[in-house]
Amino acid sequence: MKRFHILTIFPEFFEGFKNTGIVSRAVKNGIVEINAVNLRDYTTDKHKTVDDVVYGGGPGMLLKPEPIFRAYDEISKEKKPYVLITEPWGRKFDQKFAYELSEKDEIVIICGRYEGVDERVKAIVDEEVSIGDFVLSGGEPAAVVIMDAVIRLIPGVVGDKDSLRADSFSEGLLGYPNYTRPPVYRGMEVPEVLRSGNHKLIEIWRRWKQIENTYKKRPDLLKKTNLSEKDRIILESIQSGTNFEDFIEKYNV
Ligand code: SAM
Repeated sequence: MKRFHILTIFPEFFEGFKNTGIVSRAVKNGIVEINAVNLRDYTTDKHKTVDDVVYGGGPGMLLKPEPIFRAYDEISKEKKPYVLITEPWGRKFDQKFAYELSEKDEIVIICGRYEGVDERVKAIVDEEVSIGDFVLSGGEPAAVVIMDAVIRLIPGVVGDKDSLRADSFSEGLLGYPNYTRPPVYRGMEVPEVLRSGNHKLIEIWRRWKQIENTYKKRPDLLKKTNLSEKDRIILESIQSGTNFEDFIEKYNV
């Protein structure tokens, strides 16, 4: 069982997420637990104050350290969790990061709000994480993005393991395009090869499309990906303007 503890002042934010799609199934099946911790429950004053003014002046408020430390102390009583804090300047979240987190049993995600969080909280943080070069009004959407990407990597959450392997970024390449019925819609046809029933050919076509997609849309990824000899032949064919049908004929596949 993987457990996420989300330290937030808006625990209700996670209700829809917990009750939707494969995440809800994973929760119901006891594969994952999402514990949205209300920081107000860890305040000591009667107003349940979670924020305060910023030292040095300036606009806005900051999340106070005490409720976060108290919540952390309780969560980490039995076992030290892996602690993330959402920050726009953190390590950029990507599929590799998601795979790393899928190996951890107990993860805390601290969600900032307002101007952010008192810097002393970093004493309990293992990594700062950003979901991109833009500024959100709080860490909650980032926490949802992170959890969603990690949860689908947990064995047993996504039914077909092959579908994970073919996902964009999993093996360094982008994914391939897919079609469903009807075979012709508004004059647009599903590629013949996908209707051929020839599974070997379909596999080659999908690999071709993955490489083509990556070459056209994210060529930077190709430099970091270990391509097999067959992949290199496909890439060279795409680069030289060969189409799939001519490639099949040329290599007699
Ligand atoms: N004062 C901060 C700054 O100078 O960048 C911005 C604070 S932002 C309005 C409030 C909170 O949203 C942050 O503390 C962080 O938890 C979260 N946040 C904002 N942008 C984010 C991003 N790109 N990735 C992850 N979390 C983000």
